[in-house]
Amino acid sequence: MVVKIEQIHETGLKLDEPIGLALLQEVLGGAGQDTGFRATRPSTLHASLRKVSGGVLLQGEFTAHVAAPCKRCLVDVAMDVPVSFTLNLVPEALARGEDVGGEESGAEQGETAGSFELEDADEELFDGKTIDLDPIVREQVLLALPMNAVCREDCKGLCAQCGQNLNEKKCGCETKVIDPRLAPLMNIKLN
Ligand SMILES: [Zn+2]
Ligand SMILES: [Zn+2]
Repeated sequence: MVVKIEQIHETGLKLDEPIGLALLQEVLGGAGQDTGFRATRPSTLHASLRKVSGGVLLQGEFTAHVAAPCKRCLVDVAMDVPVSFTLNLVPEALARGEDVGGEESGAEQGETAGSFELEDADEELFDGKTIDLDPIVREQVLLALPMNAVCREDCKGLCAQCGQNLNEKKCGCETKVIDPRLAPLMNIKLN
């Protein structure tokens, strides 16, 4: 998924690009990092690119279809994670201060319409010629993943003693749980 800068005309460029299962899988579980999530379906990136102030404003959104075991009861949970982002892609040369006589004034005189969005957008550098969307998609998926995958908010989890899924039925084990941090205190009292 590479966009050449000359493909972006005055009116901007809108794209619907497939995001393959392999790309998503690689982000979620490949290359030394295991997020605990896996991709279940391919997706489509809806992106719009617009030239602004020497750079490119990229707005994108897609839904990542993922699954992960519930943190408490280990049941598989399917999730549709909405991903949306706005990036201000700045040519490396511009960022280094080349070819520009006063970036500030240039930005103000040029695009007044896009300035609000520009202020809000995260800045990212690119070579000024081509924009590779793959690494952007990778990064945004990771940012959008929920911290904790749980099957439901009130998931009761597994019994620590017998492993019974307590959402399904009670197991009858002693439910007295001693917080390991409090255990030393309790010993002091008992002795
Ligand atoms: Zn659960
Ligand atoms: Zn039990």
